[in-house]
Amino acid sequence: MSLIVQKYGGTSVADLERIHNVAKRVAKTYDQNNDVVVILSAMAGVTDNLIDMANTIAESPDKRELDVLLATGEQTTAALLAMTLKKMNYPALSMLGHQAGVITDRSYGNARIIEIGAEYILKLIQKRNIVVVAGFQGSDVGGNITTLGRGGSDTSAVAIASALKADICEIYTDVDGIYTADPNICEKARKIDRISYDEMLNMASLGAKVLQIRSVGFAKKYNVPVHVRSSFSEEEGTMVVSEDAGMESLVVSAVTHDKNQARITLTKVQDRPGVAAKIFAPLAEAGIVVDMIIQNIRPEGQTDLTFTIPKAQFKTAMEIERKVAEEIEAQDVLGDKNIAMVSVVGVGMKNHSGVASMMFNTLARENINIMMISTSEIRISCVIEEKYTELAVRVLHTAFGLDKED
Ligand code: ASP
Ligand code: MG
Repeated sequence: MSLIVQKYGGTSVADLERIHNVAKRVAKTYDQNNDVVVILSAMAGVTDNLIDMANTIAESPDKRELDVLLATGEQTTAALLAMTLKKMNYPALSMLGHQAGVITDRSYGNARIIEIGAEYILKLIQKRNIVVVAGFQGSDVGGNITTLGRGGSDTSAVAIASALKADICEIYTDVDGIYTADPNICEKARKIDRISYDEMLNMASLGAKVLQIRSVGFAKKYNVPVHVRSSFSEEEGTMVVSEDAGMESLVVSAVTHDKNQARITLTKVQDRPGVAAKIFAPLAEAGIVVDMIIQNIRPEGQTDLTFTIPKAQFKTAMEIERKVAEEIEAQDVLGDKNIAMVSVVGVGMKNHSGVASMMFNTLARENINIMMISTSEIRISCVIEEKYTELAVRVLHTAFGLDKED
């Protein structure tokens, strides 16, 4: 007998028929003599609709009330699933985040989980109940409803799995696992059977949007095995687990890409202390996350400073930097939105040399110019012209031996 946490995403509970399918899956797991706790997302599109409605009332609606509103999406699906299970004669009951003991800080819209009081759920499952918890939400110590940020029900699931010491956290979604590259642009991409938390963390931030990144950080910290799989098939998906020796035999596990970055360069910046702080502090204040930074030294004691930021914040960032440039007497501010970042990720890199040169050679062979490079222990990323993204992903996928055999 195992304790299994199952999380179903918005597309898996998009209508009553799909909720019925979810109920059948939950019932089957329960009938195999497992304890089951289910975490749900809102129906696909519902959270967006609620946000639109709130934005009709005010440009930036009251944050506390917005969370009360957004939490209803998950409240709806939790009740509907519990009802469906009861109709099928299973002892199910639904629960909101705060009832399940999910205590967060008070950052409305992006709250962090502080602790989870698991006793209540545990008591219920000991009596063989199926507990259905509304994901994406909790409450602060004062009882105010909070939400965990978009995609946050993944984090709810992993956090609850960890608090319950569940044997596994299954994340049911509309894709059948994590792939070696985006199958939409690389037809030779393969489903990965096992991947480490660290690889997932490096992929997630680079555009593999299957799991909310925070949930992977949580899973790693508390060592929760996560199984990402499709709610529309019986096939096994991808296990996200701690690193093991077998994983290192593969140098590169995946090739990812991210078209959501833009690049800004400040030219002829005075090379003296405090200048970088002047350039980046106002971005941080505006909540703009800078990813890569490179600095080129010019002979005249000046530097060119280039960095990447999310494309969606390009305009704001450019405005900020034009002001900064005037202040620090930089020559110019150049912006470029037509870039993409391609990365190779793999824990095997730690023990293999030549990965970077293989990557650079592969891109060079296709005449793809590399504008920026950054590396971590298990990742190498290159910024290239956006129009070469697909080509770059495909040739790297082949070069690192990831292509599926046909
Ligand atoms: N319903 C929320 C969202 O759309 C949370 C989730 O689905 O994980 O972001
Ligand atoms: Mg999701």
